[in-house]
Amino acid sequence: MLNAMAVTELAPPPGLTELRERYRAFMEEHVYPSEEVLDREDDVADALVSELRDRAKADGLWAPHLPPEAGGTGQGFLVYAYLNEEIGRSVWAQLVFGCQAPDAGNGEILHLFGTDVQKERWLAPLVAGEIRSFFSMTEPDAPGSDPTTLRTRAVRDGDDWVIDGQKWFSSGAEGAAFGIVMAVTDPDAEPHRRATQIIVPADAPGVEIVPTPVFGHRGRGWTTHCEVVYRDVRVPGGNSLGEPGDGFRIAQKRLGPGRIHHVMRWLGQMQRAFELLCSRALEREAFGSRLADKQTVQNWIADSAAEIQACRLMTLDAAHRIDGGDEARVEISLIKFYAARVLNEVIDRAIQVHGALGLTNRTPLARMATHARAGRIYDGPDEVHRMVVSRRILAAFERGEGWRFS
Ligand SMILES: Cc1cc2nc3c(=O)[nH]c(=O)nc-3n(C[C@H](O)[C@H](O)[C@H](O)COP(=O)(O)OP(=O)(O)OC[C@H]3O[C@@H](n4cnc5c(N)ncnc54)[C@H](O)[C@@H]3O)c2cc1C
Repeated sequence: MLNAMAVTELAPPPGLTELRERYRAFMEEHVYPSEEVLDREDDVADALVSELRDRAKADGLWAPHLPPEAGGTGQGFLVYAYLNEEIGRSVWAQLVFGCQAPDAGNGEILHLFGTDVQKERWLAPLVAGEIRSFFSMTEPDAPGSDPTTLRTRAVRDGDDWVIDGQKWFSSGAEGAAFGIVMAVTDPDAEPHRRATQIIVPADAPGVEIVPTPVFGHRGRGWTTHCEVVYRDVRVPGGNSLGEPGDGFRIAQKRLGPGRIHHVMRWLGQMQRAFELLCSRALEREAFGSRLADKQTVQNWIADSAAEIQACRLMTLDAAHRIDGGDEARVEISLIKFYAARVLNEVIDRAIQVHGALGLTNRTPLARMATHARAGRIYDGPDEVHRMVVSRRILAAFERGEGWRFS
């Protein structure tokens, strides 16, 4: 009974089919035909991105991750999950529709925790697509998996914060207008009250941004992952988000939705890879029969179909819970590690069925594969999410509650 109820609640909300159709049509008309140019990541590609963004805005498809009161066109997580089955199919589409990481997550926390002044100065132009941002938490000298060990410090000096430290993998920092920096403000506090998130203009004196090439990303502007050094960087005290010590509380609000946004996009990637896998299996022959007639390939198709559908339902369930006010910590961690594995496996099977062709740029698969690999690491490696899930489940058993699936 419980399952029947949940499935009904997860059904596409009224009006979604038509909206999803509009995204699908936009993808077919404008995004897929542009991918070859966008892949070049040069001036021509940048001009094309701007043109496509203007079209998306004109068509009312802009910023579907944020509600209208934050400047978006969003209707909640469940709707956004369904839309991402279209948007996620191209690695470029999040940029085209203005819902790219890390701006999407930064927009969300500015909307939830920003002051009126911060919203006017940073959130409004960010959501409008006039500026970009970065999120600066991970450090070379501390395990990103355990951010309570961060070293970057911010101290009060009069009315200002003064920040010193070094970060890396700050995605999109090159050319961004500002970053949200996680810095230790009270090293003596209990671990999850030590840090504060502080808005830092990218052109503040003492900020040095150096792009680091990363597997699968050519690295230009939005697609860079940067080392960022902060040397005596001075910003007004009013640039902190929430109260001092709220850094991890706010990070949880940011990273939870950020993780499910990634997984939603992966649903689109998986389905596109699956379609390529099936199509190639039907058209290619070897040893006197189609690849589709080989048991091994049939197993890949069956396994992929089962795993993709499992990912879809887990994602829709987590999205539905978040819309209902639940933090969905276990559900988000479950899909983060499970979907990352399925994503990599489905793309890999699709490449295998294409043989050498799968490694060329004549299909989107090679690019999809390099992007997918990073999904097992960013926003928490697989192992950490497994740990979170099992710790929470075991704690429930220790309390005598056991674990009921619902
Ligand atoms: C493409 C990309 C974009 C990113 N963007 C950003 C960004 O915008 N901003 C930002 O701040 N960071 C960003 N990151 C950094 C990312 O969040 C960190 O890489 C991640 O949190 C892991 O931290 P780490 O690299 O320091 O690995 P470490 O913490 O050093 O961990 C290394 C490995 O140890 C293993 N491990 C860790 N803990 C456990 C455990 N409990 N049990 C078993 N094994 C364990 C895991 O296999 C893990 O991969 C990005 C990373 C990538 C790859």
